[in-house]
Amino acid sequence: MEGCDCIEPQWHPEELLIKYQYISDFFIALAYFSIPLELIYFVKKSSFFPYRWVLMQFGAFIVLCGATHLISLWTFVPHSKTVALVMAMAKMSTAVVSCATALTLVHIIPDLLSVKTRELFLKNKAEALDREMGHIRTQEALGRHVRMLTHEIRSSLDRHTILKTTLVELGKTLNLEECGIWMPSRTGSNLQLSHTLRHPIPVGCVVPINLPVVNQVFSSNHAMIIPHSSPLARIRPVSGRYVPPEVVAVRVPLLHVSNFQINEWPEVSVKSDAVMVLMLPPDSARKWHVHELELVEVVADQVAVALSHAAILEESMRARDLLMEQNVALDLARQDAEMAIRARNDFLDVMNHEMRTPVHAIVGLSSLLLETELTPEQRVMVETVLRSSNLLATLIDDVLDLSRLEDGSLGLENTPFNLHSVFEEVINLIKPIGAMKNLSVSLNLASDLPPCAVGDEKKLMQIILNMAGNAVKFTKEGSVSVTASVAEADSVREACGSDFFPVSTMGHFYLHVQVKDTGCGIVPQDIPHTFTTFSQPQPGAKKNYDGRGLGLAICKRFVGLMEGRIWLESEGLGKGCTAAFVVKLGSAATQMPVLD
Ligand code: ADP
Repeated sequence: MEGCDCIEPQWHPEELLIKYQYISDFFIALAYFSIPLELIYFVKKSSFFPYRWVLMQFGAFIVLCGATHLISLWTFVPHSKTVALVMAMAKMSTAVVSCATALTLVHIIPDLLSVKTRELFLKNKAEALDREMGHIRTQEALGRHVRMLTHEIRSSLDRHTILKTTLVELGKTLNLEECGIWMPSRTGSNLQLSHTLRHPIPVGCVVPINLPVVNQVFSSNHAMIIPHSSPLARIRPVSGRYVPPEVVAVRVPLLHVSNFQINEWPEVSVKSDAVMVLMLPPDSARKWHVHELELVEVVADQVAVALSHAAILEESMRARDLLMEQNVALDLARQDAEMAIRARNDFLDVMNHEMRTPVHAIVGLSSLLLETELTPEQRVMVETVLRSSNLLATLIDDVLDLSRLEDGSLGLENTPFNLHSVFEEVINLIKPIGAMKNLSVSLNLASDLPPCAVGDEKKLMQIILNMAGNAVKFTKEGSVSVTASVAEADSVREACGSDFFPVSTMGHFYLHVQVKDTGCGIVPQDIPHTFTTFSQPQPGAKKNYDGRGLGLAICKRFVGLMEGRIWLESEGLGKGCTAAFVVKLGSAATQMPVLD
């Protein structure tokens, strides 16, 4: 061993022990090398770790430890000086780095474990909370602004004031250079600039409604930034040199009420919305914030609500004015009507007292005159006087009846009477005239017709007499027949309509009377006019008949008072006519004496 510069191991252990140490050193070295790798991997994965350089130092220490164990693998066998030198250097470096690391760790470990880490964690939390608070404050401020703006906007119900206030308040709140409202034109094909905040509106400031930018604004519920070169952004005159500001446009939904006929306000009848455009000051680097855009959207909705209220108010004011005008007109009409009623009453008084008396005198005296001896010419003349004065007396009676019917003063009697004798009396009255014209006049009373009834006998007789009189008057040859029965709902349903149910009960029954003739008939389309006062169809065939067109009109009202229906049936000129009516009558007690 003398001549060899090899270094003998310092001790001579058993070969087995050396083997174990050898293997252990190998695994220690392996472990030491893998630890830094693991550290690097996990530190990289963690988002927050402030002491990266300490880790580097720690890594170096571990690696050096590993290196000493690795180099010691060569020291178990006789080894060169170089190995010993490397080993010494490795151990020295390990010693330096490990001591430095130990010292550093003394400072860092408490930091890492407790205070500093927690501090940092809390700081991060605090920052997050601060951000949250800031957001809440912004929301609160937005809410305050909206409330303030809403209050201002809604404090008026005049649309011009609403729009002007909106622009002024938005201008103040958002510090705007300019803002304006584009309203739909009368035709609905254009938008025209109706209100601006600062600058006067240029003449003819109109944009077509079908522009893509307008469609874009209309199709969105949000405020949107539009190009400053867009026609909608032309709400202020363009000065020579300035940096274009950011422009925002938002849809203002308008109330569309098609039955609102506000002439002054075409917007409500045109199916289009308005657009509000807002412009930040030029030459400023200011940009629109999300909360500002939200504010603009909320304000646009509030304006829409306020405008709809204003529209409704305007409409109701217009309706009120119209009503007032109508009231004045109605008042005048009422005064006229009152005057007319007074004039009519005066006329009726005259008719009643001043005309009836002389006419009755003429009728009475001419009847007496007919009893005396007269030449044939004188008789014809007196008969004409008698017929004419009879006609005049009937006319006066009719007009008086009609007037009383019209002012509601004509009521119905409600007394028991002999129903059969009413018909017999009518027949007795018209028979002589029929006989003169060679007409056969017949009466058919149905077997089920009650002999007595309760109601207005005179008016019932007047109706039947008028119809039978017409039948005789309008018939030159043939027959006139009067038929009376208790109405059957089914048989009169077609003529009276489905809303009329003439169903008899214990207390009352419906009387159905038909007067049939073979006379000149009537054109079906003329039938409705026959029940109108002073209107009578006058086809050639009737030219020679007297008439005033009052009889059926009065009959219709009497029938109405008796809760019935009246109608005429005819297949046309020359085909005869049937006049019919149904009226409600009270059933008379059976023990009532039958009058003759
Ligand atoms: P007038 O006094 O003219 O007879 P009415 O009111 O009694 O008034 O009748 C109105 C019109 O109805 C008559 O002018 C006539 O044209 C028509 N009319 C009424 N009854 C008959 C009938 N039986 N035949 C033909 N036409 C009739």
